Amino acid sequence: MSTASPLRTAEIIAVGSELLGTARLDTNSLLLTEQLASMGIEVLTKHVVGDHRATLAQVFREARARSDLIVFTGGLGPTDDDLTRDVVADVLGRAMDIDEAIVEKIRARFTRRGMRMPDVNRRQAQVPRGATVLDNPNGTAPGLLIDDDHRVVVLLPGPPREMKPMFEKLAAGALAARAGAERVYTASLFITGRSESDVEQTVQPIYSRWRDATPPIVTTILAAMGQIELHLSLRAADGAKGPAEVSRARDELARALGDDVYSTDGRMMPEVVGDLLRTGGYSFAAAESCTGGLLLSRLTDVPGSSDYVHGGIVAYDNDAKIAWLDVPRALIAQHGAVSEPVAIAMAEGIRALTGADVAVAITGIAGPGGGTPEKPVGTVVIAVLAPERAAYVRTYSFLGGRDMVKFQSTQAALDRVRRMIA
Ligand code: ATP
Ligand code: MG
Repeated sequence: MSTASPLRTAEIIAVGSELLGTARLDTNSLLLTEQLASMGIEVLTKHVVGDHRATLAQVFREARARSDLIVFTGGLGPTDDDLTRDVVADVLGRAMDIDEAIVEKIRARFTRRGMRMPDVNRRQAQVPRGATVLDNPNGTAPGLLIDDDHRVVVLLPGPPREMKPMFEKLAAGALAARAGAERVYTASLFITGRSESDVEQTVQPIYSRWRDATPPIVTTILAAMGQIELHLSLRAADGAKGPAEVSRARDELARALGDDVYSTDGRMMPEVVGDLLRTGGYSFAAAESCTGGLLLSRLTDVPGSSDYVHGGIVAYDNDAKIAWLDVPRALIAQHGAVSEPVAIAMAEGIRALTGADVAVAITGIAGPGGGTPEKPVGTVVIAVLAPERAAYVRTYSFLGGRDMVKFQSTQAALDRVRRMIA
C-alpha cells in the first residue's frame, strides 16, 4: 500500500452497450457516487461507454489525466465484447497473467451447478501485473484494484448484486485507508408552496456567507416535482464538528423559510403527513377523481400506514360522485364537477361514509383533453376537512402534462393536510 496523498476526486466509467439504450439503466454509478461522496471523494464526472475498444481506451486516458480514482463497472465477463480488463491493461502497458487460483474458483462455481466451465471463462482469470484481485462471492468475474502512480483504478463487475457488496468491502478496507480523514456531511430541506426563485431570494443572503467560511458549506437548490429542495454539504475531518455545523446551517435556513419547510430529516411528504396523522390519532380518507387513487397510493407506500389510512373512493365519473359520495346532481349541473362546491361535497361524502377524522377530495382536469377557457387543463380543486378547523377548499392551476398535474394535486392536498394538523 502506498503512502500517496489521499484520494479526493473520482470518475466512474460504466461499460456496456446495453446501458446506452432503454434496455438497462446505469444505476451502479448512482450508488457509487453516493458512497464515494460520503467518503469525502468527489465524483467529477461519469461516463457510459458502449463495448467499443478505442472509445473505452480514450475515455480511460482522459480520466487518468483528471482524477485520483477511476472506477469501472461492467465488461468483466467472459465474452468477446467484455473489454474492460483488456483495455485497462493495454492503456497502463501492463502484461496480463492467468491466475490459476481464480480459474479454480470459477471452475468450482460451475461444478457446484453441475456444469463444466467453458474455456472462455479463463479470460476472467486474467490479472494485469501488480493488480490486487477482489473476490466475487456472488459471480464469476473477480474485481481488480490497480495502483497507478498516485492514482487508483478499480474494476468492478456490472451486475449490481455483485458490484455493490464488492465495493462496500473495498470502501471499508483498501479505499478507506486511502480516502484521507475528510468526510462529507450533508443535510437537506424540502419546501412546498414557494417557487424556486422565491426560495433562492430568501436563502441566498444566508448561504452566500457560508461559501467562504472554513470549511465552506455548499448549498444547492433543486426544483423537483411538487417541491423545492435545498441540499447542504460540508467537507470536514472525520469526528470533527462537521455534523453539528451542517445541522446548524440547515436550521438557520429552516427558520428563514418557516412553515413552508415540510421536512429537514429526509422524510418525504407522505411520510411526514403519515407521522402527523399518527401523532394526532387521526384516521384518514380520500375521495379522488382526477388523481385516480394516487393520493392513497402515495400514502400507503409508507410502511405502517394502516395506523391512520381508513380508505377511500375513486369517483371518476359524475354518476360515481353522485351514487357513492352523495354529491347532489344539481350541484354538479350548476357548478360543474370541477368546482369548489363539488369538492366540498365530495369531502363531506367520504367523511360521512367512512367516519374518518381527516377527509380530502380532489377533482380536476388532468388533460390533455377536457379543458375549457374558464377551466383550462391543470385546474384542480382540493378540499380538506379536519377536526376543529374550518373546511378548506381552493382552486389550483398546475402546469405540465397529465402525470405532473396528478402528482402536484396529491402533493398540494397532502401539504394542506400537513398545515392543518401540524
Ligand atoms: P458478467 O460476468 O456477469 O458478464 P460483467 O462485469 O461482464 O459481468 P456486464 O456483462 O457488463 O457485467 O453486465 C451484466 C449485467 O449487469 C448487465 O446486463 C446489466 O443488467 C447489469 N449492469 C451492468 N452494468 C450496469 C450498471 N452500470 N448499472 C446497472 N446494471 C448494470
Ligand atoms: Mg458481461
